[in-house]
Amino acid sequence: MLDESALVPPSVMALALWAAEYYLCGPGQTIEAALPAGRTAGFRTVRRFEISESGRAALEGAGGSRQARRLGRRQVTALGALAAASRGLDQAALVELGVPTATLRRLEALDLVRVSRRQVSRISAVPLSGSPRREVTLTAEQAAAVDRLTTTLSEHRFGVALLHGVTGSGKTEVYLRLALETQRAGRRVLVLVPEIGLTPASVTAFRAVFGERVAIQHSGLSPGERHDQWHRIRSGDVDVVVGTRSAVFAPLDDLGLVIVDEEHDASYKQEETPRYHGRDLAVVRGQHESALVVLGSATPSLESYQQALRGRYDLVRLATRVTGHGLSAVRIVDMKVELAECAEVTALSRALAEGIEDRLARREQAIVLLNRRGYAPVVFCRQCEASAECPNCSVSLTAHRGHGRVRCHYCGYARALPTRCPSCSGEFLELAGVGTERLEAEVRQRCPGARVARMDRDTMARRGAAAALLAEFGRGDIDVLVGTQMIAKGHDFPRVTLVGVVAADGGLGIGDFRAAERTFQLLTQVAGRAGRGERPGETIVQTLYPDHYSIRHACRQDYEGFYQEEIAFRQAMRYPPSLALVNLVVRGRTEGEAMRDGAVLARALRDRTRSGWVLGPAPAALGRLKGEHRVQILAKGDHRVRLRSAVESTLADHPRLVRRVTVDVDPVSVR
Ligand code: ADP
Ligand code: ZN
Repeated sequence: MLDESALVPPSVMALALWAAEYYLCGPGQTIEAALPAGRTAGFRTVRRFEISESGRAALEGAGGSRQARRLGRRQVTALGALAAASRGLDQAALVELGVPTATLRRLEALDLVRVSRRQVSRISAVPLSGSPRREVTLTAEQAAAVDRLTTTLSEHRFGVALLHGVTGSGKTEVYLRLALETQRAGRRVLVLVPEIGLTPASVTAFRAVFGERVAIQHSGLSPGERHDQWHRIRSGDVDVVVGTRSAVFAPLDDLGLVIVDEEHDASYKQEETPRYHGRDLAVVRGQHESALVVLGSATPSLESYQQALRGRYDLVRLATRVTGHGLSAVRIVDMKVELAECAEVTALSRALAEGIEDRLARREQAIVLLNRRGYAPVVFCRQCEASAECPNCSVSLTAHRGHGRVRCHYCGYARALPTRCPSCSGEFLELAGVGTERLEAEVRQRCPGARVARMDRDTMARRGAAAALLAEFGRGDIDVLVGTQMIAKGHDFPRVTLVGVVAADGGLGIGDFRAAERTFQLLTQVAGRAGRGERPGETIVQTLYPDHYSIRHACRQDYEGFYQEEIAFRQAMRYPPSLALVNLVVRGRTEGEAMRDGAVLARALRDRTRSGWVLGPAPAALGRLKGEHRVQILAKGDHRVRLRSAVESTLADHPRLVRRVTVDVDPVSVR
């Protein structure tokens, strides 16, 4: 532990300490994140065998009659193979030839072989893209963006740029040019991406340009592989690290450029202690190391856009697609009208079903988004009106028909899909509502002949499954891809000309101040998957609330309009980014207990926060989770540093409560 922490570059150690202070957690927890990943795995070595002089003599003698008795058949096999291998053989190779390890030990004891240890790398190669990198000529907008950012880059000082580029505007190409420029100047590049499995294209792009000089870091790697990658980065063998949020602690020296792709993505926030935000730490790291930080998105977070409008970030826009085509046309289907006009209630509107049929006829592809997995979100008794609830959490259990089970999506609780109501034993259970599993079944039924696949956490549990499915879709072996927000990420499939969104308003009722922002981002991003090739795209949005501002603005792909309306709401309701927010969740065995502790904490906080507001305690939107009752306190303040230190000293005064309180500074989700 001691010597390994000495290996961590001082700049990364400083970042970890900064994060501990800012996010109000112990430095041990953030330093842990900065230490060599998978370090318990250590280096892997294998035993390597070479034949010795006496081994050779024994082998030559083995042909003759006197020595022959001394060597067994397997010993002869081993020595024969070793005599033929000029640089020796690994133990595994000999075992494969039918030589047991006992025989090898015996040869070693007889000094007939020499044994050494060889360090082997566990880094599995990321396949290079099939075709070599295509040289593209930058569009005028891209060239202008690269020029402007290269100038900043050459000044070797800290700066943040927000690259606001519509979907399909070619942001990746801008990142690549800046990264090459940085490498030319002898400095290094850190690239953060939301989820590697879902965005294999950006990894492939960096790999195609930088080859062996790229390291890929994400949680899907084995501990051994992470360990080896860490040391490879540390030793200076790589110029570019591409990784998910934890890669913000990658042990690179001479950092010149930090890129945060899809900077608005919620997966940059770690939802367990230490609750840091990868994007925000990336900016801090850039500041510590005098690097240029580029935040890229088609739908920037309100936080970043506000900074840009205030002039703290350089706002660089890419307003058009590289193909020169417009964004896809969006059609709204009001499901209230649809339900009134149709005898049968279905998840797919007539327009969407016809749209899919059209694409099939034209050999084009479609994507259908529904951000809810499972077959049906509620199992409901028509007799007593009870629904199946999780015994540990205050949520209903989701039916998964394929597995014949109901499941809690928060704690993992599962049991067999009931055939009778658990409360009244009634026989008329209804699977109410639609999840992706049911939607997939409906698409198959309404569009026979279509090759349909589903992409959600249930079908993508296996490592590499997402990348494999995306590759299949890319080859055109799938016609319709149904899925959750996983399918909305930055994919680039030129043959997709239709995007359907089912229950576009599904995320609006979840009691979170970011609900509208998330809905806007999701709809804009998924609409951006259509019409990226030569043929124009179309998006069909099904909703019960066609007039909600997040849906209206997303349908017009009007980021600015959405921002203005949303920032006004945040200001009026005193939510970030108009002020700083700390979310404290107090857990207890009973609600009463949690409320009592919460009241103590809230009172103490009020005494200390003169220039702020403390709301609560109030039962959290997710009132019970994993068997514990949850009560929430929201502390708000105009002055970020003062607010944080008020929370810090309040907690220090209540050591008894600290264990039961989760502190989230700059929360992304406040359920
Ligand atoms: P974004 O991330 O902004 O949505 P991408 O970076 O995925 O867009 O680029 C969209 C597509 O355009 C990709 O297939 C990319 O290879 C291609 N592309 C990018 N820049 C150019 C260019 N200057 N000329 C031609 N094609 C380009
Ligand atoms: Zn549960």
